[in-house]
Amino acid sequence: MRKTTLIAIAILIQLLFAGIPAVGQTENITRQETLRGSITPEREWWDVLHYHLSVEFLPETKRLKGSNEIIFKSVKPGNKMQIDLQPPLAITKVAHGNSSLKFEREGNVYWVMFEKAIPAGVEDKVEVFYEGVPVVSKNPPWVGGITWGRDDLGEHFIMTTCQGIGASIWWPNKDHGADEPDRGMQISVTVPERLTAVSNGRLKKTDHDVAAKKRTFHWEVVNPINNYGVNVNIGNYVNFSEKYKGKGGVLDLEYWVLAHQKEAAMKWFKEVPRTLAAFEHWFGKYPFYEDSYKLVSVSYPGMEHQSSVTYGNWFTNGYLARDMCGCGVGFKFDFIIVHESAHEWFGNNISMKDAADMWIHEGFANYSENLFVEYHFGKKDAEDYVIGTRRGIRNDRPIIGTYGSNREGSGDMYPKGGNMLHTIRNIINDDAKWLSILRGLNADFWHQTVTTEQIENYISTKAGIDLGKVFDQYLRTTMIPVLKYNVSGKTVRFHYEKVVKGFAMPIRVTINGKEVKLTPTEQQQTFDFSEEIKTFEVNRNFYIQ
Ligand SMILES: [Zn+2]
Repeated sequence: MRKTTLIAIAILIQLLFAGIPAVGQTENITRQETLRGSITPEREWWDVLHYHLSVEFLPETKRLKGSNEIIFKSVKPGNKMQIDLQPPLAITKVAHGNSSLKFEREGNVYWVMFEKAIPAGVEDKVEVFYEGVPVVSKNPPWVGGITWGRDDLGEHFIMTTCQGIGASIWWPNKDHGADEPDRGMQISVTVPERLTAVSNGRLKKTDHDVAAKKRTFHWEVVNPINNYGVNVNIGNYVNFSEKYKGKGGVLDLEYWVLAHQKEAAMKWFKEVPRTLAAFEHWFGKYPFYEDSYKLVSVSYPGMEHQSSVTYGNWFTNGYLARDMCGCGVGFKFDFIIVHESAHEWFGNNISMKDAADMWIHEGFANYSENLFVEYHFGKKDAEDYVIGTRRGIRNDRPIIGTYGSNREGSGDMYPKGGNMLHTIRNIINDDAKWLSILRGLNADFWHQTVTTEQIENYISTKAGIDLGKVFDQYLRTTMIPVLKYNVSGKTVRFHYEKVVKGFAMPIRVTINGKEVKLTPTEQQQTFDFSEEIKTFEVNRNFYIQ
C-alpha cells in the first residue's frame, strides 16, 4: 500500500472518531485539563483553610474587580503555587506579607512563586488581586459564566454559575473538588447602591459608600464549601424568612426574591419545610444549620449553591412545568426545590473529590426525589416516579467520567444513578437497614470530599453484601443486564446476558402470585416451582431488561 493511502486512511480514522467523546480514554487529555482536573504538585503541598473573596460587579462595563485572600496550611514544603483563573480575567498582583510575588500565566493557570520555600506545617496567606471582563454565560446554569441580565421590570439581574467549568471562571482559587476551605469563606460583594447582592451563608453586615453610590454586602459561610457552590446573585431583591424546627434545632429559612415576586413566593415556598422534613428523615439533620438554608430567585432553572439554593422554576410543580417521570407523580412537587435541596446532603455535605465521580451528587439527588415522594405520598408513587425516570436513560457512555481531567461521565448519572440506588435498596430488601445506610453516609462522611470507591465500600460493608459488581455494571459500563428466561411446566430456566464478569445480582420474581428470590448469573440455571407455572413476573424495581 502506498504511503499516501496510509495517510488517507489515518485521516479517515481520525475523522470517524472525532465525534466520539473521549470518556474512559486517557491519551487525549490536554495539559490544561490535567492542570484543572488533577492534584498537581503545585496544589498538593498546601491545604486551603479559608477564602475571603471581595469582588465588585460593574454592570455598566460588565467587569469584575476584586481579590481573594487565601489562608492555607502547608502540608509539605513548597515554593510554587497553582492558582486557577480563566481568561479573559487576569491576576494583577499576588501579595504575600509586605511583598508582591512573581507569577506567570499558563492558560487557565497561574504559577505563583514564593521568594523562599514555605516549610511544612505553616499557616500562611496570600491575597490574589484580579480584574477584567469575565466570560458571559451563554446558557446558565449548564454553561458557566456571568449572566448580566435584566428582570421583568428592567432592573439589573446578575448571577454567577460555574458547575463543571469551575469557579475560576469568575474568581481566583484552587479549582479542584478535593480541597474545600475547612473554616469556610467570606464573600464581600460590591454593587451599585440600589441593588442587593445575595451570596452563600449569612449576611453579616452591609456597608454603604454614599459618595461612590455603592453598597458592599458581606456574606459568611462557616462550613467547608465546594468551589462551584459559591455564587453571587444581584438584583432588586427583598427577603422574608421563617423558622424551621428540625433535627439540628431551629433552622433559619431565608428567602430572597425580586420585589414583584414576593407575594407568589410567600405562598409557593411552603414547599421548603416539607422538603426539609423528608430529607432530615432520610439523611439526618440538614448539614449547615450555622449557615442557614436559603432559596434565592434567579433567571435560570436552579443550582445547588450551598446554603444558597438558586431557584427559577416558575413557582409551579414539575421541572419547568414538565413531569420528569411521565407518570403524573412529577407534578406533585416542585422539582427544583426538592432536587437542589437534596444536594445539600449529596453534593454539599458529601462532595466528590474528582468530577468523574459526579454521580455522587446527581445520582443521589435524582434518587432523593423518589424518597421525597415516598415520605409524602407513599411507596407506590415513589416507585412509579423513579422507574418512570428511566425513560431519560440513554446508555451512551458510562456514568463515571475520566479521572484527573475534570471530565464528567454521561448525563445518565441522574436517572440511571437513581435507578441503580433504587435497585440496590431492593437487593438489600431491608428498609430499616437502607435508612441507616443513607443516614450513615451523611454522618460518617459529614462535610467531607469522597471518591466513588468510598461510597461503594461503605454501602457494601453496611449492607453486608458485596455490591462491587453491581456498581461496576451500572457505573462503569453502558450495559443493562438482560434476564433471559424460559418457562416450561413447573420449571423456569434463566440466566443473565450483557453483564460484567461475575455479575450475580439477586432479583425477586412473582410466580403464580408468590414471591421468589432468584440469583441469576451468566450460567444457565433452573428453578422448580411447586406447581405448574401460570404467571412469571420480574419485580419492576430491579433495573434490568
Ligand atoms: Zn443536580
